Amino acid sequence: MMKFNTEHSSNTGSLAVSSLFDGTHWHSNVELHWQQGKIINIRPAAGPVLTATLVPGFIDLQVNGGGGLLFNSAPTVATLRTIVQAHSRFGSTAILPTIITDSISVMQQAADAIAQAIATAEPGIIGVHFEGPHLAEPKKGVHPAKFIRELSAEEFAIYGRNDIGIKLVTVAPEHVSPAQIRQLVELKVIVCLGHSNADAATVQAALAAGATGFTHLYNAMSPLTSREPGMVGVALADRNSWCGVIFDGHHMHPLAAKVALAAKPAGKLLLVTDAMAPVGTTDTEFAFFSGKVRREGSKLTDDAGRLAGSVLDMASAVRYAIDALAVLPDEALRMASLYPAQALACDGARGRLVIGHQADMVLLDRHYQVQQSWISGQLVFGSALPVNNS
Ligand SMILES: [Zn+2]
Repeated sequence: MMKFNTEHSSNTGSLAVSSLFDGTHWHSNVELHWQQGKIINIRPAAGPVLTATLVPGFIDLQVNGGGGLLFNSAPTVATLRTIVQAHSRFGSTAILPTIITDSISVMQQAADAIAQAIATAEPGIIGVHFEGPHLAEPKKGVHPAKFIRELSAEEFAIYGRNDIGIKLVTVAPEHVSPAQIRQLVELKVIVCLGHSNADAATVQAALAAGATGFTHLYNAMSPLTSREPGMVGVALADRNSWCGVIFDGHHMHPLAAKVALAAKPAGKLLLVTDAMAPVGTTDTEFAFFSGKVRREGSKLTDDAGRLAGSVLDMASAVRYAIDALAVLPDEALRMASLYPAQALACDGARGRLVIGHQADMVLLDRHYQVQQSWISGQLVFGSALPVNNS
């Protein structure tokens, strides 16, 4: 069990490394300094360096669980802390805990837990993703049908809160009108489209109304065919919107992933995990609403054999992009940090290692395995190594 480092209350420190990727450029033999959790300087190293690569911390905007816990099952701050700890081992330094389709009371409890975490500056929690409940039943996947419903004043009250950080909501545009999407955007909600059987025109109308993203491209959305481009067709053809992709080797054939990489402009595909409870554990099954989800290797399925989220972590997704899809390392790293920061409009403070940004950092070995993770200049995973004293 790792612990959050609270010894350096001034939150000041430095790291000297042989290689640093700032989100745009690579630097050799540099030291990075931070104060009050923010980067204040990056300069040539004055002493010995650690032979490792420092990169921007990963930002995962779809995280259902980790460390053995599912946010839906126990929407509390303690759960959030466990989930962040589990994912920080794999380089995630900022996440949107994700509540899938559930009762209004679970949504309210989740919002309260997020608000508390943000008020007390719990490391790694930057907002919340409500995936549902305004979805299309034919494309519900493992979401419980009994909680799928139209958007009402009760949910608007949650989405309108200003104490829960970044707000992302996944909706099916055949059940949420352009006028409602405009209302959500006015409430500073980032609207994503998914779990939908909508035709292309309906999807385009949702984009025109202010939706900006697509949730787990290809999965649980109307497919692309010759005369019915569906949600997949719009998602691939649209230049401005972004798509979350689950690079676990199960949610998307490598060729389908390559089509997406070729179709979307740089910056518009971003890595998400859609991670469930077992990430960071050896658990082989977990309770999921009234049923069970089982893990076989790196795959999760429910009682009906449907894919039920993933046991993916961000570092594995980065490695998959590089190894299986031949994405250049710079680009794979940006898909895990800068691009999600841009999608969430927090790229003024996160997603790059530059002066003024949060000291959210991951130290990788040459195989892209995570050695250390730092959130706001605090070591949250790995052991601190004496890199600066010679
Ligand atoms: Zn989903």
